[in-house]
Amino acid sequence: MWKLIFLVLIVWLAITIVKHMLANSDTTKPNSTATGNDNSHQHAESMVQCSACQVHLPRSEAFLVEGKFYCSQAHIDHKPD
Ligand SMILES: [Zn+2]
Repeated sequence: MWKLIFLVLIVWLAITIVKHMLANSDTTKPNSTATGNDNSHQHAESMVQCSACQVHLPRSEAFLVEGKFYCSQAHIDHKPD
């Protein structure tokens, strides 16, 4: 009796795992498109140069003021001109 239950349990587990794998392969398509923008954003992230100290930093971390990039708030206040 217990062998039968054990067998059913293994079969159920196998079916569950297969279904889970199939479900994952199906959901990866909408997920990849949904997160595609974020991925492309990370790949497309360019380095910019601070107008005050000429240090290079990721564009997402830079401050854009009047068309110029700055590495910190302090350098925005200390404009070269
Ligand atoms: Zn700077």
